[in-house]
Amino acid sequence: MVKHFMMPGPTKVPEEVLAAMNDQYLLHRSDEFRQVFREVTEALCRLTGAKETYVLPCSGTGAMEAALVNFVRPSERVLVCTMGNFGERFVKIAKGLGAEVDVLGVQWGEAIDAEQVVAALRHDHAAVFITHNETSTGVSFDLGSLAAVRERSDALIIADGVSSVGSMPVDLSLGYPDVIAYASQKGLMTPPGLGMVAVGERALSRMKKPPGFYFDFSLYRKSQEKYETPYTPAVSLWKALRVALSMIEREGLDAVYRRHRICARMTRAGVAAMGLPLFARRNHSDSVTSVGPVDVSTKLVRKIMKEKYQTHVAGGQGDYAERLVRIAHMGCVTTSDVLGTLEALAFAFAGLGVSADADAARRAALEVLGQCVC
Ligand code: PMP
Repeated sequence: MVKHFMMPGPTKVPEEVLAAMNDQYLLHRSDEFRQVFREVTEALCRLTGAKETYVLPCSGTGAMEAALVNFVRPSERVLVCTMGNFGERFVKIAKGLGAEVDVLGVQWGEAIDAEQVVAALRHDHAAVFITHNETSTGVSFDLGSLAAVRERSDALIIADGVSSVGSMPVDLSLGYPDVIAYASQKGLMTPPGLGMVAVGERALSRMKKPPGFYFDFSLYRKSQEKYETPYTPAVSLWKALRVALSMIEREGLDAVYRRHRICARMTRAGVAAMGLPLFARRNHSDSVTSVGPVDVSTKLVRKIMKEKYQTHVAGGQGDYAERLVRIAHMGCVTTSDVLGTLEALAFAFAGLGVSADADAARRAALEVLGQCVC
């Protein structure tokens, strides 16, 4: 049995979404699929304010790569801003393409501000890459502050929204970012396997022919005039995503973001009140909270939480693999999940001899909830 599934992706898939995949006869060159295509792509564009959205059969990393190769030519110069593991992945993808890569990096747990980006930008940067929400640390980038970058530079702004879209506001119609890559298995509450690239107005006219074949957006654009994909789509996942998107629209986007924000604030208040450190120094994420670094093995903490309290959380990544616990409040997570997770976290740490006050955590989290509900 699982009581609280607080993983930073794949996240819990609601029963309604799972049930939508139980259809063996939906063919992709059919009017029924064209209807699914239309509803999904229109809802995705409403979600991010995009002009167009391409849905690819891949995970988030594939969407990041597709977002890069369709807008940057090999040998062009780019700036990659990195606050952790997933920013570093953008560096690897850009180098793999053969781009000239400048890196603006900060220590894990730190945030990057738009002013730092502006200071690092050169006139010959064709694009700047940022991670909207760095899942490895629980630090987010303030997209609103990108107005300052847009004012000073013509470089395309390409973002990784894998752990933010569906949980935190993104609005490409503002003009920044220009492109955002994301995936089905996080805030969108759908199983893994779909990667999305949302493209804004300015970026549409700056698309370039990529070196490869499969991720060439010009072919996706052509096919979508007929509400089709160029190659066989992951039909069942599209059907699942249609239901998940309608659940999000039923709850209301503002309400969805507010629920994430409240869950995040409750988690942080609870962790601080139980006497454990928060890893993010500032710009705390609304979808994932990193707890630590701690001196006990968080592999053991997670094992106790899972086996004794049926509560699933993630460990750290890279050098912090066994020193952080990452609690995701992403997708269909509720405030009761947060309360149960805080209790399991405190009991697990206490079981390993680290003092962690479960009552204080609960009181602090409920106080935040009380303030938010009024
Ligand atoms: N970027 C971010 C911010 C992520 O959180 C993840 C997945 N944890 C990825 C990229 C990579 O996504 P995937 O594992 O779906 O390829």
